[in-house]
Amino acid sequence: MAEHWKGAPVAQALTERLIRQAGRLKVQGIVPTLAIVRVGERPEDLSYERGALKRCEKVGIHVKQFNLPEEARQEELLEIIEKINADREIHGCLLFRPLPRHMDEEAVCAALDPAKDVDGITAGSLAAVFTGSGAGYPPCTAQACMEILEHYGCDLTGKRAVVVGRSLVVGKPLAMLLLGKNATVTLCHTRTADLAAECRRAEVLIAAAGAANMIGRDHLAPGQLVLDVGINVDEEGNLVGDVDFAAADEVAAAITPVPGGVGAVTTSVLAAHVLQAAEQIG
Ligand code: NDP
Repeated sequence: MAEHWKGAPVAQALTERLIRQAGRLKVQGIVPTLAIVRVGERPEDLSYERGALKRCEKVGIHVKQFNLPEEARQEELLEIIEKINADREIHGCLLFRPLPRHMDEEAVCAALDPAKDVDGITAGSLAAVFTGSGAGYPPCTAQACMEILEHYGCDLTGKRAVVVGRSLVVGKPLAMLLLGKNATVTLCHTRTADLAAECRRAEVLIAAAGAANMIGRDHLAPGQLVLDVGINVDEEGNLVGDVDFAAADEVAAAITPVPGGVGAVTTSVLAAHVLQAAEQIG
């Protein structure tokens, strides 16, 4: 049976460090503050928002919420972003995406001050992840994977890491973060010729494709460390990952469960980024 790498202990260790960090900021008269911007009421956004509010409260981060109806105009959203940019008391901004179709998501993301981009949505933040300059914040989910690997003592140097999925939210930035830790990285996608063979070669396998149980026994090899980023609903209505958990449990050395794995760490990473921004912006 594989080790089950749960997210909760990782989140707890991070939170304890963050509470101390927030305390030090308080002494300097700084109240770390996060703006949460939501357009519409998608259940997954509401659920993440509840988690973020809880985590921020635990750490000592003040949250300002900005909610717009689904049919809001792009100009209204841009006004909010500009307000956030100008507000010296706000250190970070979480903007839920995807935005409604009638909005130009690229333009809205580009409007956010990169210094407040705590979820890696601006080109500036992503450039920093790609250059390894350390000047921007990686998307929280990609960073959460790195926190899990570190917490459970995985030294990535020289390891073969395979990431399934090449989105800008998870796959691509995660590949850069793994590379930054000296892993040898392969990025897979829908045009990958033999996905199962690529996956089997991995020592660290990270699935971020968004397809229920697509990583099966054929993709797995003994001793692998498997991180499952996927959040999907299967035919019976259950929340499942991209990895066939039973198969991984049988073969792999470790597997992150869904739910309770990667997803349980992302709000702690978000809080960490807000505190970092508060230290830098002051
Ligand atoms: P996207 O749909 O933007 O990207 C999916 C990527 O996976 C694409 O690059 C796609 O390839 C690839 N892919 C999809 N199906 C296959 C397949 N059958 N074989 C090989 N590659 C495939 O998704 P996201 O990156 O936004 O999210 C990925 C998953 O992670 C989703 O389940 C999402 O719910 C979850 N997620 C979880 C979070 C968490 O906190 N745990 C946060 C964010 C996302 P191609 O580019 O060729 O189309």
